Amino acid sequence: MLPRVTAATIRREVRLPVRLRDGSLTPARLFTFDGLCDGREHVALALGDRASDRTGAGPGAAVPLVRLHSECLTGDAFGSERCDCGPQLQEAVARISDVGGYLLYLRQEGRGIGLYSKVDAYALQEDGLDTYEANVALGFGEDERDYTVAAQMLLGLGVERLDLLSNNPDKSTQLEAAGIRVERCVPTGLHVSSVNGRYLATKARRWRLPPASDRWGAPLGRPRADGVRRAWAGEEDRAAP
Ligand SMILES: [Zn+2]
Repeated sequence: MLPRVTAATIRREVRLPVRLRDGSLTPARLFTFDGLCDGREHVALALGDRASDRTGAGPGAAVPLVRLHSECLTGDAFGSERCDCGPQLQEAVARISDVGGYLLYLRQEGRGIGLYSKVDAYALQEDGLDTYEANVALGFGEDERDYTVAAQMLLGLGVERLDLLSNNPDKSTQLEAAGIRVERCVPTGLHVSSVNGRYLATKARRWRLPPASDRWGAPLGRPRADGVRRAWAGEEDRAAP
């Protein structure tokens, strides 16, 4: 498959030890880039062995596990329970660290509408709109994220084949369109909080994920030992506001 976007070039690579959610410390490397098509400051975090061997992309070689994580200040930094971004970020760093790969941290807050507009959308959600309807009511698309920069970063890192850690089919579709081969889509866990049930159910419907719990191995509401709950809510969480 020929890449259909121009590779970014690595601007800087630095060591960045990272504390995982189990308390252990793992070595990581942080990359910045030149040549990204939207001019924003996206970064890649390399974790584990598969990310170290940039020549190991030949046929039959294990491919890196990659997560495209869209920035969410409220979830990632403040621990907001309105969404599942913070726990998903922690899960991704831990799982990629286990097998090796990259976390791409993409600066597209609020599915691409920006922080202030995301907060505006939260206000509309408090009046009854769902997360997609609120973005549309503000004059945006339901999901404005463009993963071209992710493909540019991956090509700059020498990654043309990967396993994608995601439940969102838009990501694999856009990467494949950019010429990146997605070997496998690896689903993430479901991170239910006291208030994000409706949000999760809305995303599951949009992505046409099966509402039954068999895909996830546990009925909704039964937490695993690490606090992750693995079942999409087929119905809206009645306990949610
Ligand atoms: Zn979020």
